Amino acid sequence: MSLTQARTVGFKSGERNIFFHVLTACNLSCRHCYINPEQHGSSTVSRETLEKWLELFQDKHRESNVIFLGGEPTMHPELPHVIRYAKKLGYSSVTVDTNGYLFHDFLDKVAPSDLDFLSFSLDGPNPEVNDPLRGDGVFDTCTKNLQTAVTRGFNVSLIYTVSRYNIEHLHKMVPLLAQWGVKRFFIQVIGIRGKTAINGADNWQLTPEEWLEKIPKVAADAATHGITAIFPKVFLEPEGKFECAGRVAENYFIFPNGRVYQCPLCEDYPVNVFRIEENRLIKNTGFTEGKFFSLDIPEGCVINKMLQPDNLRYDTDGKPLYKISCCLLKQEITPI
Ligand code: SF4
Ligand code: SF4
Repeated sequence: MSLTQARTVGFKSGERNIFFHVLTACNLSCRHCYINPEQHGSSTVSRETLEKWLELFQDKHRESNVIFLGGEPTMHPELPHVIRYAKKLGYSSVTVDTNGYLFHDFLDKVAPSDLDFLSFSLDGPNPEVNDPLRGDGVFDTCTKNLQTAVTRGFNVSLIYTVSRYNIEHLHKMVPLLAQWGVKRFFIQVIGIRGKTAINGADNWQLTPEEWLEKIPKVAADAATHGITAIFPKVFLEPEGKFECAGRVAENYFIFPNGRVYQCPLCEDYPVNVFRIEENRLIKNTGFTEGKFFSLDIPEGCVINKMLQPDNLRYDTDGKPLYKISCCLLKQEITPI
């Protein structure tokens, strides 16, 4: 058996992460889609604006990483151009998160050296599990394109969003990922956002027991197969150290309508702390997500308590049995 090493990652001081939604349009209609056009707009960011906004968020004095997402970012015909533009500006890493359809001959228009990671989303080890969640035929298309990307020399990672509908099948992903040559395995917890929030959240959400029993084991197994596994910590001991990324880190979630959030849990609400106007970043006044970041509560994440309190438990004295960690705090298990 190979050796593995676990560490907590998530906030690196002095690092800046830009999650850039270049459009909200998508060819799929996943049952748990978090995109909310009412809040995020339905426009596509133009080539010129993409360049300007990349310039706006790049900081030459600190490590800056950009993740292009959507909607489906490869539907944007200028994506290959902006990937190279981001590299030219000096972004430390450039990642694309795709649903696997790779429009506009994406793999022919970018070179493996242009991209640090190409991340595919898949929510099951076979069409029977994946396709009811993501759409008919998605498993076959996504896995075929994923393997083509590996063959062409791209660093490929995979994102699996765990919910009640697919947790039992998560462990079957590990041998597949090893066979396909995937290097990183992101295990995400389902967020009660977008469609999930209006589609019976209780049917999706996992209990602490389910999460703690299954996820760390699968991640450790992935690492023994030579794959780095990353998953959110979610639950912290009552005395564990809690930090809010909104307070200590620099994460920007940018949407085509110019809204810029610092906390992804807030994206269903018009409480974004920043907005972009005429290519300038402006801090919003009034009631914004920023107001919550500095509140200290025994349950940990304030926004979690407001939006999804069902995942909290208390003892008979009313003390929380655990804290909910920041959704951006991750555990990483690497092969050594
Ligand atoms: S691929 Fe992503 S953006 Fe498209 S429908 Fe699915 S979750 Fe939503
Ligand atoms: S998820 Fe909670 S802890 Fe993390 S940034 Fe948002 S409010 Fe802060």
